[in-house]
Amino acid sequence: MLFRSSMRHIAIIGSGPAGYYTAEAAQKAFEDDVNVDIFDVMPVPYGLIRTGVAPDHQSIKGVSRRYEKVAMTDNVRFVGNVMVGRDVSMDELRGLYDAVILATGAPNDRDLGISGQELGNVFGSAAFVGWYNGHPHFADLDPDLSGKTAVVIGMGNVALDVARIMAKTQSELAGSDIVAHAFDALRDSNIKRIVILGRRGPHQIMMTPKELGELGNLERASPIVRSGDLPDPDDDAILEPGLRKSVNLLRQFAAIEDEDRAIKVEFAFFAQPIALHGEGKVEEIEIERTELVKGRAQGTGQVARLPADIVVSCIGYRTVAIDGVPFDERAGRFANDEGRILPGIYCVGWARRGPSGTIGTNRPDGYAIIDLVAADIANGALGAANKRGRAGFDELAEIRGLDIVTFRDWKRIEEAEEKAAREGAPREKFTDIDAMIQARG
Ligand code: NAP
Repeated sequence: MLFRSSMRHIAIIGSGPAGYYTAEAAQKAFEDDVNVDIFDVMPVPYGLIRTGVAPDHQSIKGVSRRYEKVAMTDNVRFVGNVMVGRDVSMDELRGLYDAVILATGAPNDRDLGISGQELGNVFGSAAFVGWYNGHPHFADLDPDLSGKTAVVIGMGNVALDVARIMAKTQSELAGSDIVAHAFDALRDSNIKRIVILGRRGPHQIMMTPKELGELGNLERASPIVRSGDLPDPDDDAILEPGLRKSVNLLRQFAAIEDEDRAIKVEFAFFAQPIALHGEGKVEEIEIERTELVKGRAQGTGQVARLPADIVVSCIGYRTVAIDGVPFDERAGRFANDEGRILPGIYCVGWARRGPSGTIGTNRPDGYAIIDLVAADIANGALGAANKRGRAGFDELAEIRGLDIVTFRDWKRIEEAEEKAAREGAPREKFTDIDAMIQARG
């Protein structure tokens, strides 16, 4: 084996956008003097691109072709089906690699924290989105869509994704990669009213214009905004341009004449959820009217109940803590200083900054973290170039009998998913980890 004293070894944990942009940055910064191993607990790569991005947003998912270019090079490899903390410890990785970069995203739902949230048919968006996107952990969610009213809590882009997917017809979903169990369940859905609940007002929505605009172009659903909820149009002048565009769309929705559409998507502003009620399964949501006080939602004591046959809370996400790695409980991400956690341990993407920004935001983030690693190499903080990297990991994996899934394996899994696609769809994803592993042949 070629031994180069300048060779550095980087382990990236998580193969989503943050992970691959970081690998790309490492290749650019260190050229041939780096080996990058990208670990993922799943046997398949791309994290949020596969299981978070909406199935009808195929053009966004297309960014994975860029990651594939990185993955196909010799000095970057995908090490799938390996869980840090179960199959290999952080300490072991730290011993083998110069830098361990946590790109684990934020896969857990933020807690709604209201009574009744444990009732049946109440889901967090990680679970619900995971269900229609074929995430193995949520494939069996089996939401009951037989009721009339869905309540989606939160006014961000995830709330829009969830509302739109529930509202779309089979023909609108046909070209997406929504998995068969969700495609079929939505075909049989009875939902006629989707209420998007925001605890603040139109000027505080987190929805971006392109995504919000899609709600105005659906086959059988129309958005409903009460004009009385909208601030004076002159007040829009203070908004940053993106938000101004979104608010403008809300104004256009408010101007839509009452259309005879099968599904109504209603915006309910200034309404914070305070409890869920039902016998075993959710039936109603109790909300409190709010007003803005210094930009924050404050309850007014005025409460009301709305029917709610299914509730999906889309209020943000949390990173999963790892033993021995400092964690910021309040923010729900690793405790870090611009990405540095401990000597040799870094974080990037949502694991660093929390669940904000678009896929593209992770690119500068990935490049910035590699700048820090390079600076720490230069200032001696990471020690001499004497780590064993992938050769050391492979020995460990052999001793432990780990069943590693490689990028080549993934390409075979991908081929099988493409072959199994329904007419017009790009792929039919495996929703079961064993089935993924078997499909590599
Ligand atoms: P988000 O943009 O942070 O929106 C979360 C929403 O939940 C906000 O409206 C927030 O209201 C509300 N919320 C938080 N806690 C609440 C509570 N306890 N009760 C009621 N409402 C509560 O988060 P997200 O929608 O999960 O999106 C995460 C990130 O992914 C964002 O950066 C988003 O743009 C991105 N994303 C992008 C796309 C796309 O580009 N197509 C698609 C999906 C997601 P407050 O503002 O009052 O806190």
